[in-house]
Amino acid sequence: MSESATRLPIAITRVTESNIGKVDFNNIQFGKVFSDHQLIIDYRNGTWTDARILPYGEVPMSMAISAIHYGQAIFEGMKAQKGPDGKPLLFRPTDNLKRLNVSAARMCMPELPEDYFMDALTELVKTDSNWIPTAEGSGLYIRPFMFGTDAFIGVKPSETYRFSIFTCPVNAYYLQPLKVKVATQYSRAFKGGVGFAKCAGNYGSQMLATREAQAQGYMQVLWTDAEEHKYIEETGTTNVFVRIGNKVVTPNLDGTILAGITRDSVIQLLKSWGVTVEERPVAIAEIVDGIENGTVTEVFATGTAATLVPIVVINYNDKDYTLNGHETWEYSNKLGKTLTDIKTGKAEDPFGWVVKI
Ligand SMILES: *Cc1c(COP(=O)(O)O)cnc(C)c1O
Repeated sequence: MSESATRLPIAITRVTESNIGKVDFNNIQFGKVFSDHQLIIDYRNGTWTDARILPYGEVPMSMAISAIHYGQAIFEGMKAQKGPDGKPLLFRPTDNLKRLNVSAARMCMPELPEDYFMDALTELVKTDSNWIPTAEGSGLYIRPFMFGTDAFIGVKPSETYRFSIFTCPVNAYYLQPLKVKVATQYSRAFKGGVGFAKCAGNYGSQMLATREAQAQGYMQVLWTDAEEHKYIEETGTTNVFVRIGNKVVTPNLDGTILAGITRDSVIQLLKSWGVTVEERPVAIAEIVDGIENGTVTEVFATGTAATLVPIVVINYNDKDYTLNGHETWEYSNKLGKTLTDIKTGKAEDPFGWVVKI
């Protein structure tokens, strides 16, 4: 680390005894096991200050903080893997920071400088690098987040904030291919809203619809545009792609969907293989008709937690449309394997996505 004014010193307080021996790495529930340390940086008087790594655990806070009452809360999701030489590998980390700052701007929160983010992330992952699992499909899930901390219940942007990161060793997010239900009643996002931000409210607001879909046997809602429920957008936590003939289509970034880093990586990979990718409005009618007439042969979801998951059932207006043979889907399987191999350092990284720390 170079000495410069753009660097924030990070004070490190280590655990006296690691918890790692208590973890059964073969049976981890996603997001329920936490590594030994967490990182905190506070924002006050207009600057980020007091960066520290401390044992993971509870941190006392006022019950009046604005994040709880008015939702100034944003987050990111990333993963670290262990490379063949045992060193931690991060995947496109500065893209997560850029998106965090896009979310921050929309929620009227301060941006975090790239050096602070990268130093904090690197230091925390190094501190807990023995928590990075190496079994197939596993990884160290990293959760950076920021929230307003003013103890003040007037509705206005907080003047103080906390940025924090903790990490969780995880196995695969979805163990099964996905069955989704198309939203025809509820909406997740709308033009001019916050659909493109990874802000906490976007997740709370979809829980009822998701629970209702789950009660009917589907795992996720496939969201549609709020005006007409005619064009697909994304699921609650993943972007969505559809193979039609030999080309691939995915909804364009119009402000209502999250600009997934996995989405962008999939688009770049497909294009590098000579596959035509169209980013444009994708009507649900085009998908279900295509499934019925055989032109739609692969539908899949992408995201950091899940990487790439086939969607095998799409329920639309109470009718199930089923896609068969996902084990041999050409694009999905090649994309999933290539992404995993690049992230774990097993394959070449022609795009310069992987950062070794
Ligand atoms: C996080 C997220 C994604 C996936 O983004 P990645 O950068 O690929 O992890 C897609 N949609 C929503 C709504 C998300 O929250």
